[in-house]
Amino acid sequence: MKQAVLVLNVGSSSIKYQLLELEPAGEGAREPGARLATGIVDRIGGEGAGTLTHKQPDDPQPYEVSDTFADHEQALAAVLGAFRDAGPDLAKIELKAVGHRVVHGGSEFIQATVIDDAVLAKVTEMIPLAPLHNPANITGIEGARRAFPDVPQVAVFDTAFHQTLPEAAYTYAVPSEWRERYAVRRYGFHGTSHEYVSRRAAAILGRPVAETNVIVLHLGNGASVSAVAGGRSVETSMGLTPLEGLVMGTRSGDIDPAIPAYLQRVAGLDSAAVERELNRSSGLLGLAGSNDLRDVNKKADAGDPAARLALDVYRHRLRKYIGAYYAVLGRVDAVVFTAGVGENDPRTRSQSLAGLERLGIAVDDARNESTADRGERFISPDGAEVAVLVVPTDEEIEIARQALGAVS
Ligand code: AMP
Repeated sequence: MKQAVLVLNVGSSSIKYQLLELEPAGEGAREPGARLATGIVDRIGGEGAGTLTHKQPDDPQPYEVSDTFADHEQALAAVLGAFRDAGPDLAKIELKAVGHRVVHGGSEFIQATVIDDAVLAKVTEMIPLAPLHNPANITGIEGARRAFPDVPQVAVFDTAFHQTLPEAAYTYAVPSEWRERYAVRRYGFHGTSHEYVSRRAAAILGRPVAETNVIVLHLGNGASVSAVAGGRSVETSMGLTPLEGLVMGTRSGDIDPAIPAYLQRVAGLDSAAVERELNRSSGLLGLAGSNDLRDVNKKADAGDPAARLALDVYRHRLRKYIGAYYAVLGRVDAVVFTAGVGENDPRTRSQSLAGLERLGIAVDDARNESTADRGERFISPDGAEVAVLVVPTDEEIEIARQALGAVS
């Protein structure tokens, strides 16, 4: 019988899922392997109909259902229906675990954790730290517990990998009451991606993870940088929430913390409105009118000055962080690009690293611009002091690996 992990990423209005098959028991590390099925349900709880799209690797056509998914419970029932109707038949698979992406684990969770009532209560306590994400994650966990009562449910936290940050890196210089009573500190996010990509980088370099220092640039719609020393995250750009750090699709990243109060005084905006705009109307969208870097590139190529400025701001911020994290690490073996922008945009890669030759960082233009290979690859010249790599991220594989590790 096949063994598998079902990975669930439940958002406020969507469920993404993947069923990953494991290597047969007894053969080495039992890393997750092939995808047996992938799918997404969108527009859950929305006005009109949503769509469930369910794919198996060899299917020429995905299986699709259009329906009103009133809540996550209904959407999850539809996912089970898709497995029943289109396959693979879950009754013929030994499901070892359901792995849940959970956004905020606070200081409590330092690794993937098998979910029981106490764990669920703790994740619920973290809701003030991630008011948009944790409630949806909890709904997914509750639904999956009912759907798979005999299968262990495992929470894999976005924050857990960064729990190794030293105190000097995670502490904000703010009053002790804020820190002690309200848990105000840097947590960091995208942890499964930073962990997966930094481990792959060590493997590509053929070095033990424990002896490899890397800077990981996760540049998607959300974006963050991490400094990983010997497999441990020692610095990362997102903070208490995912708003801090790099310029993102719709988030500002770093700003002067006095700006919200200033806007309250001069524009009458309350703090909730400022927070919303910093999260949803800022970043590339605020600067160039589009949150998608492809569109910003097109506008810039057509001579739009706002789009050109947006790209300059985006890449300047990146270069600043790379320099800072180089200083944090002292010695860097690789700079690694991942996620939508990092994997696909050669100009962001070359321009954010421009002028860093003195640090041993250089990009080979032909390698950087080649579209022949979309997998893991070097884009630095042969013999470069610091390897520059592109590593496609795979958060689902990492969640499956960690979920499996938690139940083994
Ligand atoms: P992600 O959140 O990892 O899916 O990344 C999404 C972002 O990647 C999109 O908003 C785009 O800006 C960017 N992206 C995807 N493909 C490309 C591409 N071919 N060139 C430039 N940017 C891209």
